[in-house]
Amino acid sequence: MTRIGCLGGGQLGRMLALAGYPMGLSFTFLEPASNSSAGQVGEQLVGPYDDPELLARLGADSDLVTFEFESVPEQSARAILSHSPVFPPPGALLLGQDRLLEKRLFERLGIQAAEFAAVDTLGDLDRAIDQVGLPARLKTRRLGYDGHGQARITEREEAEFAWDKAGGLPSILEREVGFDRELSILGVRSTAGEVALYPLTQNHHQDSILRLSLAPAPGIGSQLQASAEEICRLILEELAYQGVLAVELFQVGERLFANEIAPRVHNSGHWTMNGAATSQFENHLRAGLGWKLGSTAAIGHSAMVNLLGDLPDPARVLAVAGAHLHLYGKSPRPGRKLGHVNLTGADPVAVTAASVEVAEVVGAKLPPPADGNSFWPAPSP
Ligand code: AMP
Repeated sequence: MTRIGCLGGGQLGRMLALAGYPMGLSFTFLEPASNSSAGQVGEQLVGPYDDPELLARLGADSDLVTFEFESVPEQSARAILSHSPVFPPPGALLLGQDRLLEKRLFERLGIQAAEFAAVDTLGDLDRAIDQVGLPARLKTRRLGYDGHGQARITEREEAEFAWDKAGGLPSILEREVGFDRELSILGVRSTAGEVALYPLTQNHHQDSILRLSLAPAPGIGSQLQASAEEICRLILEELAYQGVLAVELFQVGERLFANEIAPRVHNSGHWTMNGAATSQFENHLRAGLGWKLGSTAAIGHSAMVNLLGDLPDPARVLAVAGAHLHLYGKSPRPGRKLGHVNLTGADPVAVTAASVEVAEVVGAKLPPPADGNSFWPAPSP
């Protein structure tokens, strides 16, 4: 039986395992927290990501190793290479962890992104404000996710406060983009070089945490989908990537700005579990194994509502038409991602109504539907 090793044992690892078992795969996770979300459904080695002995054991016991947590040290992924192949390429971890390298990658590939400047000192910040303009966001280069390590600067006088908030760490200043909406695209590239792209997803965040995804994103013309695919494909090819890659985007009119990449399966792709011909988890594994990729086509319309902080009553969630519940086996804590609900259906008005109903059951706040009763605009005649 082919065994997949995985650095990280959170919900993404759990969903990888759940997708992998029907294909005859087995799983071992390396994760510091015992009884982790993924450890409940696979073998778990309990310990830090940089423990040389555990890394060697994971590599030796596995036919192939992947990662599901983007803060895993690149060195840990590299250390495994002497025992087992690793996918995605460990270098992608470094790019996903460092906003400056990420922005330089976009620049090198000619991918449009917010104007930025590197900031290592308070003096740099002053110069960066001249260069990129205001309003802007000061973001620490490393370990920033879900809005952590970020400060908004609207006036020059706020620079020092923002610098303190960033902890005086190496950072970038990024011009604020007045976007119409946030989108993401997931792409997958196999070890055989096959590439497949999912339809664009529309994402709604609150306090920088994803609350709702809609897929395929409402009102996307073929041109915009093609532009997003081009961005994702450029990155996949440049990195000789293997597995699923997510690219977060801002839409401004008919233009796309790249915000960041995640070299792993991604929360904005959870709808694919019920709303696409092949889920992102299955395709990530197929890609790493060099197997033919499954179709990325959407089946009807999907909405994904994240469950944060509290566990819902499953019976009440599943009483909603088209609802699929995915819980991660985690104990409740304020703001913690405990699961998600996918809502799928052929009729966009019904999917919107179902999302609103689920949001009431689980206490989530959703944005108002664009045209009053549907997130998805009516198709043009
Ligand atoms: P990030 O940690 O870069 O994903 O940022 C978290 C959220 O902050 C994003 O999802 C956006 O809503 C917002 N944001 C980040 N960077 C910018 C920017 N340059 N312009 C406007 N909004 C931004």
